[in-house]
Amino acid sequence: MDKKLFGSNYINYITANKTERECVNSAVVMARCNGFLTMKEIKAQHGGLRVGDRVYFVNKDKNFAAFVIGENFGSDGVNLLGAHIDSPRLDIKTQPLFEDGGVAYFDTQYYGGIKKYQWVTRPLAIHGKVCFKDGSSLNVVIGENQNDPVFCISDLLPHLDNNLYEKKASDFINGEKLDLIAATTELEGEEKDAVKKNVLKLLKEKYERFEEEDFLSAELEVVPAGAARWCGLDKSLIAGYGQDDRVCAYTSLMALMDLAKEDHWDNTTQKNIPNVLKRTVGCVLVDKEEVGSICATGSKSRWLEDVLYCVSGATDRMHFADMLYKTDMLSSDVTAAYDPQFGDVSNKSMTAKLNGGFVLSKYNGGRGKSGGADANPEYIALVRNILDTANIKYQFDTMGKVDVGGGGTIASIVCNLNINVIDAGVPVLNMHSPMELTSVEDVYNTYLGYMAFLKH
Ligand code: MN
Ligand code: MN
Repeated sequence: MDKKLFGSNYINYITANKTERECVNSAVVMARCNGFLTMKEIKAQHGGLRVGDRVYFVNKDKNFAAFVIGENFGSDGVNLLGAHIDSPRLDIKTQPLFEDGGVAYFDTQYYGGIKKYQWVTRPLAIHGKVCFKDGSSLNVVIGENQNDPVFCISDLLPHLDNNLYEKKASDFINGEKLDLIAATTELEGEEKDAVKKNVLKLLKEKYERFEEEDFLSAELEVVPAGAARWCGLDKSLIAGYGQDDRVCAYTSLMALMDLAKEDHWDNTTQKNIPNVLKRTVGCVLVDKEEVGSICATGSKSRWLEDVLYCVSGATDRMHFADMLYKTDMLSSDVTAAYDPQFGDVSNKSMTAKLNGGFVLSKYNGGRGKSGGADANPEYIALVRNILDTANIKYQFDTMGKVDVGGGGTIASIVCNLNINVIDAGVPVLNMHSPMELTSVEDVYNTYLGYMAFLKH
């Protein structure tokens, strides 16, 4: 596929997928379109997994994994890609609605590492799910259609913000002030909390049975409203929310899906037969990376191990241990691109550049390397060879100067399964902001790099 077309498809993807659940839903659609079936369907069809099967798994609507079972099923490891599909955002609290000075607000708590001042005075949308006691639920998206209202967090005008330049950046906007303006119109005939009551009336009109207490069992995420865009006169960059880490989720998924589509003409049966690789290949999408990979849907959950057990074809614990030992993984995650405006935080020559291609990071975690992962040189040599053989444009990276800081990815967690893993993904500018930037050159080379890795 042409690089620009790939970029356009990716722009559509991040425009339409701004929450974990949306990413899982679209992954299921992609998988089913490419012949992947659930374990239950495969069991009904032919008893259990066998060579050539395309299988996918969903966990609590926030995890997804898909595999193409290879020829060495039951004796070899897996070539695995793993990305996270959660991004920094604001979450609406469980008792969020309040009114002050004739304005009704939704109270929020931020999720993941954000610079709070970046979230005020910009159009915001609400995406999520509300669950009712009777087991039913409804999906909510407000702020994305042209006719939808958007939401906004206010900021003080400069004229009244006299000591602005004495303030620390952390005090520009306080976490507790990240409140969304919900409405300003009073419900007629009401004396107390008339605007708040109007919000509840409007919610009930829109969603029929929504009561205030239903916020208790809701998962409503506040994200930047609107579509991702090309950026720069040359359209070399892509501007959009949630590219950490949906840029790696998309490229990983597309690599697996495109590989699953590959077939060959078989003379005996006179049919196109789907290609089967020697090793099983797969892609897993996890949640909660931005808050430490916690919970049943984060990469610390045993779900990942259970899924790997299932697709390994192992018959006992030691058999499985051997296959984990032989499993190779790329932790598909982004890294910070060199920003010439803030060059002093990085070692320029060792930092990923925009348009430099697919990025490999041997290790992450700042200072004494703590809290990150660190790949074995034997494994790095293997990955280098794969990428060079496939002519992939790639670069190596270390994130930031030693004592400046650092980060971690799911590599530091999945390596506990005793699998080989290295961080590999796309360099991002403005990381964790409402408008992250990537280069289409890097996005495309990352897709090609993932594809080459899966095929080894
Ligand atoms: Mn990430
Ligand atoms: Mn992140």
